[in-house]
Amino acid sequence: MRPWLTVGAWIMTVDGTVTEPIDTAGTSTIVADIAIVGGGLAGSLAAAVLARAGHRIALIEKRAVHPDEFRVEKIGGHQLELLRKLGFFNALEKVACRYDQVLNIREGKVVDVSVGQAYGFSYADLVAMARSQIPASSSLIVDEVTAISGSDDAQHLELASGRCVTARLVVLATGMAAALGYKLGIKRRILAERHSVSFGFTIARQDGRPFDFEALTCYGERTADGIDYLSLFPVRAGMRANLFMFRDPTDPIMRELRREPEATVLRLLPGLRTYLGDFRVIDRVQNWVMDLTVVEGHLQPGIVLIGDAFQTNCPAAGTGVARLLVDVDRLCTEYAPKWLATPGMGLEKISQFYSDRDKLAADQQSLKMARFRQALTSRNDIGWDVRRRLHFLRRSLTHRVDQMHPGWIGRVRGALRA
Ligand SMILES: Cc1cc2nc3c(=O)[nH]c(=O)nc-3n(C[C@H](O)[C@H](O)[C@H](O)COP(=O)(O)OP(=O)(O)OC[C@H]3O[C@@H](n4cnc5c(N)ncnc54)[C@H](O)[C@@H]3O)c2cc1C
Repeated sequence: MRPWLTVGAWIMTVDGTVTEPIDTAGTSTIVADIAIVGGGLAGSLAAAVLARAGHRIALIEKRAVHPDEFRVEKIGGHQLELLRKLGFFNALEKVACRYDQVLNIREGKVVDVSVGQAYGFSYADLVAMARSQIPASSSLIVDEVTAISGSDDAQHLELASGRCVTARLVVLATGMAAALGYKLGIKRRILAERHSVSFGFTIARQDGRPFDFEALTCYGERTADGIDYLSLFPVRAGMRANLFMFRDPTDPIMRELRREPEATVLRLLPGLRTYLGDFRVIDRVQNWVMDLTVVEGHLQPGIVLIGDAFQTNCPAAGTGVARLLVDVDRLCTEYAPKWLATPGMGLEKISQFYSDRDKLAADQQSLKMARFRQALTSRNDIGWDVRRRLHFLRRSLTHRVDQMHPGWIGRVRGALRA
């Protein structure tokens, strides 16, 4: 497989082969229909969808292989439908572990059991999967975009290696990295600073046997702990744990979770002990403090922002990938092909994407869920206390009725909707 783009930097073909730096002294300009900056999940999926449709894509990413970073590690439900629609489902199955049942517990008791196809994976594998779906005629340019200048017709990108890319449209999929956007006058408005804290690690039983559950969610027991839930689900390396909290990131508990994760988790979630038995953490404890942000000043000719580059998400709400997939779907299957069919790339075109009904709904839903999860976890006024009790009571009653009369609740819900 030969890359079609050569730049003064590392080049990686889509089969994952990294080649030596090519012609670093040259000054050639790469010409593409669309330049995508950032080859994380959003940029790589967008590149694959657009390249499959026959557009000339330059995907510029500063890291040849996505590092072992803590990001989304499980998906299910509507996210799978979108991945299927975009043509990535079969590839996902090859890098992810499927599970179909999640045992949900609180204070040691079963709340309910969630049933439905879901997948666990490492983010690096997910990004590699997305990149592997870019057709053979394209390649990933491993380089850093340092500046972008644009007009209604053509955009000009400068790369750290000294090379340039010109394209009619630039898709900024740079995640939470703000530097490039900042140079364009795009700022991040903080909606909630240090909104949540997330921990990720992998566990195994001390006796080496498998756990007695396929996947498990354990909800926090006391509002003061600020624990939303601990989610356990299978990945290739074992049983992955994602712990989502709404708590001051400088609280000493954060250090305890990093240093003594087993004992600290059981202290915070004592009801978990009978389900886990003796267990140990078998890899590095990763953690992340998330600000909820949305961009301002982004409506510019020839440039469009997708994924985390546009808006960040609360990991506990699990809406980041749904938002990102809606962005990729709407931009790459609807707007970009239409825009390229006529001259110009002015504001009237770009604004269509930002006012897309599905995109707006996904962005709003993500913020709404972020606020809901935080309130449900840590608000201790009487209103939220009652709401929390009712939330879990409704779920556990529904579960019991469903156990006694399987399918009955589903039929009643269906009849009410009709
Ligand atoms: C701890 C954590 C847990 C999460 N859990 C969930 C979850 O359970 N469910 C869910 O739906 N979502 C979750 N999310 C959110 C989800 O992971 C993100 O929405 C998603 O990964 C964003 O992908 P992206 O492609 O927009 O950004 P990224 O994956 O960050 O990609 C951005 C890329 O741009 C590149 N880049 C940046 N600047 C430049 C430049 N100038 N030149 C070239 N390349 C550049 C970077 O190297 C990077 O590869 C979680 C997030 C975190 C942090």
